[in-house]
Amino acid sequence: MTIIEKKRVQTSEEANKLNGKVVIVTGGSRGIGATIAKELAKKGANVVINYNTSFESAESVVDDIQQFGGSALACKADVANLEEAQYLIEKTKSQFGKVDILVNNAGITRDRTFRKLSEEEWNEVINVNLNSIYHTTSAVINTMLDQKYGRIINISSIIGQAGGFGQTNYSASKAGMIGFTKSLALETAKSGITVNAVCPGYIETEMSAAIPDNILESIVSRIPMKRLGSTSEVAEAVIFLANSDYITGQCLNVNGGVYM
Ligand code: NDP
Repeated sequence: MTIIEKKRVQTSEEANKLNGKVVIVTGGSRGIGATIAKELAKKGANVVINYNTSFESAESVVDDIQQFGGSALACKADVANLEEAQYLIEKTKSQFGKVDILVNNAGITRDRTFRKLSEEEWNEVINVNLNSIYHTTSAVINTMLDQKYGRIINISSIIGQAGGFGQTNYSASKAGMIGFTKSLALETAKSGITVNAVCPGYIETEMSAAIPDNILESIVSRIPMKRLGSTSEVAEAVIFLANSDYITGQCLNVNGGVYM
């Protein structure tokens, strides 16, 4: 006698865990954040695109998403400011009813060798890159704890792992994000929340376009894959972590092998 096991076939909607999720991408108006926002929307997530100054870019990301039938909203908030970050979370909840995934992506550089670095340049980078993740995460954590589900994905950097010439402020902010990721992962693991970091290497965006040509050439020559990464390659890592239930406290390197 043959026993035929009946397997319940998953519908593609069930298999796609991101369908219907509510996501905030800070700094989603340009570069890596814009691609992350679009790729998440393609998976059926409702995406809030946060920006600080680039209104037109943020609106064009929303337009792109709406053109393929996705759901998106642009929200202006300076995430270096606690009240504005709180507004971003409240606006998302009032629009979509919840927040499932927070991608802390907003970031700036103010590169200068340490002897020339002003206190203002130090504080600006620490406020936008590191204090912002306290602001957004503290505003959303109770919502995630109550719903026993959350994904927090922090876009750190290879510079936070390996250091960077003229980047003490940026490197400190990005290394700080990694410590934050691991500690918060420990505190929230039993509550259905995962906290991870993505550490991009050198990615083709406006930020890397600001690096002088000769320096960029020498950087590329040191990358085992001999090219810059693309914003979609970073977005793939974010989607992977957003889908994972059992990965927490990790740094996922997307760097062409330049730091292992
Ligand atoms: P871009 O300069 O292209 O974009 C930065 C984004 O951050 C913009 O959307 C900008 O919005 C937003 N932003 C800046 N300040 C604030 C603020 N105070 N509040 C809200 N949003 C803000 O950067 P990238 O796409 O290159 O970088 C994205 C992230 O990836 C950053 O955290 C960066 O450190 C990290 N990274 C980048 C790498 C690269 O090679 N490009 C490598 C490793 C890490 P607006 O224009 O409206 O101000």
